[in-house]
Amino acid sequence: MYSFSDPCWASINRGILICDECCSVHRSLGRHISQVRHLKHTPWPPTLLQMVETLYNNGANSIWEHSLLDPASVMSGRRKASPQDKVHPNKAEFIRAKYQMLAFVHRLPCREDDSVTAKDLSKQLHSSVRTGNLETCLRLLSLGAQANFFHPEKGNTPLHVAAKAGQTLQAELLAVYGADPGTQDSNGKTPVDYARQGGHHELAERLVEIQYELTDRLAFYLCGRKPDHKNGQHFVIPQMADSSLDLSELAKAAKKKLQSLSNHLFEELAMDVYDEVDRRETDAVWLATQNHSTLVTETTVVPFLPVNPEYSSTRNQGRQKLARFNAHEFATLVIDILSDAKRRQQGNPLTGSKGEYTFGCWLS
Ligand SMILES: [Zn+2]
Repeated sequence: MYSFSDPCWASINRGILICDECCSVHRSLGRHISQVRHLKHTPWPPTLLQMVETLYNNGANSIWEHSLLDPASVMSGRRKASPQDKVHPNKAEFIRAKYQMLAFVHRLPCREDDSVTAKDLSKQLHSSVRTGNLETCLRLLSLGAQANFFHPEKGNTPLHVAAKAGQTLQAELLAVYGADPGTQDSNGKTPVDYARQGGHHELAERLVEIQYELTDRLAFYLCGRKPDHKNGQHFVIPQMADSSLDLSELAKAAKKKLQSLSNHLFEELAMDVYDEVDRRETDAVWLATQNHSTLVTETTVVPFLPVNPEYSSTRNQGRQKLARFNAHEFATLVIDILSDAKRRQQGNPLTGSKGEYTFGCWLS
């Protein structure tokens, strides 16, 4: 928005396309606020791109600016940032109000119990995903509907409904908001099962891909390859060229510690590393595509993962430390995570240690 040039970036979870300037602000807020991806210089699963473009073309932006469209808001003095405004502070403040504070999203009349409201919204989402109306679902999600909501009467989740109905773009949107393609309904069946059963084979394949999105992304980051899920290969574990030289006592201890984590803490660590991979890759695209004379560098740098207030301070510190890993150290960590993800997937779960994992042992 606010650019005379074409938007080069998408915010996947907001369903919008944005220009370089806005993207720099979105990136600084973190992926929990906005998941940015370059339209040309990042590979896209075709149906994910289609989902974002459909939302954009159908005016998803108005979801985030709802109250600004109300003539009464003109009286309040609130206004959109304009193209002539400076990125800092004007546009940045507007973008923070819009996406971080959700200041302009439509508010429902206040109810006594927020959890009742969330349940109603989730039930609406559950029935809306069988149609092709993406904006309705994004609006419901923006108001607090839960993508993984398990409908107590129907005995399944919105993703089961979308998969059964062959609503591929709805499935993409739900997955962006955290829906799990491996969740079982009350009959023990997953959304993948229903997509196959309904003859939606491309959707079924895509849902399997989504299930392995985390480890696939880590593998692709290191070696540019992804596993062949269709033929039952779910993990690619790259080798370091000098791996035999790398079994220092420190590296062995770190690996052992990783293996002793509870599944929950291991998943958190893997997600943090995923976010760091995303930061590094997006940085690389950013540097490759910017005309540095037009943007002040200090406004565009994202030196480490921005704080996510939903995480503990220990976890946020750990996430930020990941930026200090050099390429070799980071690759070692990613390979260890891939190996351990595969081991955990194949059963043999270990009873994990309690307490938060720290990255200290990775730093020499
Ligand atoms: Zn813009």
